[in-house]
Amino acid sequence: MRVRSTRPAAIIAVLIAALAASIAPVAPVVATAVAATDFGTPIARSTFGEAIVFSQPLTIERGVERVEILVETPGALGPFVSTVEFDAVAGQTTLSHRIDLADGSVSPNTRFTARWRVIHQDGTTDLGPPTSVTYADTRFDWRTRTGDVVRVHWYEGNDEFGARALAVGEAAVEEAADLLGVELADPVDFFVYADADPFYDALGPASRENVGGRAIPETRTMFARITPDAINDAWVGTVIPHELVHLVFDTAVDNPYHYPAHWLDEGLAVYLSEGYTDSDRGAVERAAADGTLIPLDGLIGQFPTSRERFFLAYSVSASAVDFLVRTWGRDALVGLVRSYADGVSDDEAFEAAIGIDTTAFDRAWRDELGAVEPIAYGPRPAPAGPLPPGWDEDPVGSPDPGAPSGGPSPTTAPGGAPSGGGDGPGIGLVLAVVAFVVAGIGAGLLVADRRRRS
Ligand SMILES: [Zn+2]
Repeated sequence: MRVRSTRPAAIIAVLIAALAASIAPVAPVVATAVAATDFGTPIARSTFGEAIVFSQPLTIERGVERVEILVETPGALGPFVSTVEFDAVAGQTTLSHRIDLADGSVSPNTRFTARWRVIHQDGTTDLGPPTSVTYADTRFDWRTRTGDVVRVHWYEGNDEFGARALAVGEAAVEEAADLLGVELADPVDFFVYADADPFYDALGPASRENVGGRAIPETRTMFARITPDAINDAWVGTVIPHELVHLVFDTAVDNPYHYPAHWLDEGLAVYLSEGYTDSDRGAVERAAADGTLIPLDGLIGQFPTSRERFFLAYSVSASAVDFLVRTWGRDALVGLVRSYADGVSDDEAFEAAIGIDTTAFDRAWRDELGAVEPIAYGPRPAPAGPLPPGWDEDPVGSPDPGAPSGGPSPTTAPGGAPSGGGDGPGIGLVLAVVAFVVAGIGAGLLVADRRRRS
């Protein structure tokens, strides 16, 4: 699973909340006659599960309009600026700013950098020195093993455990980076949790229970839950590469305009970490035969949440990547992925790489499978309800004789209320209730599911 959108949004939310909690300066003192602002050494302190607190001693010798803190996090478009309450009297003080992280919306290994800005009443501005702190999970005594690109951190298990996790990770990064022709300049941190609860704490709220790993491209961090006795299990050899492929993919496609379809990202991760397996093939062929195949345009964003559709989405994604490689070759796949770095749309990327747009590709893939035309889901027009008395008359002076009669025209039914009879909310409400119940059952199954994919 990749969660590109989660963290910056979450961080912004946290910062907005923190703005409200900005702490007033401590005890301003009388000024002396020196110009500008004298910044002391800034301090940043992180407490896992609680907060990050920045503080800045300074002496201000001119009238102050306002004081701001500029906080930057990886992947953000720029610093998040908060106004910090400040006594207008110039002098010595220590400013403090708290960012509350108790809600778990920021994942460990996120680095915060802050600097303070003083805007004087005469319009001049002084910018203080930066200070940084990494929001780290300090609940464990992490051991670290460093490879060429990957740094593995684990707290349970011996040296062999760390060595094995590092070897799998390094090989996966090398293979994916070679294929996509990218070089990972910065290291990737890989945190291995042995316990479920701390692992889900690290992933943050709303994480799915069947997630075995997660990559966060912005912080170049990956989390996985692997107990020491499972390190040689086959799934470890796929979950680690799967997540690392996401990090490499993110590096390859990085641009500020458009992120590729989710199925391409997940399809590549599955295809490179485990291939198009018989299990995935079976699921796709069954769905193609019974009309339940998910078209690719249904997998551009988040995958379905029900257990069956969730796993089918991965199988479909791997199938589409396999089809692309078999039909146009690996070089076309690589060209397609890399072209996204130019900020192209999906159709532009597909047309340049394989000569057809995404709709035609979707059609060609389904044609090869001999797929039954899928049932269209999604929003539909609501069924017509009962009309108030008099509303079924054709409105006078209607400009469109073809328009459905009986619309709620103010000229024909001023203040008209729905009639007391009829079937009320009717079938729409029933369907909504049924959908809600089905979704609930799906979520329950998801919780019980022990398969892992992310
Ligand atoms: Zn994934």
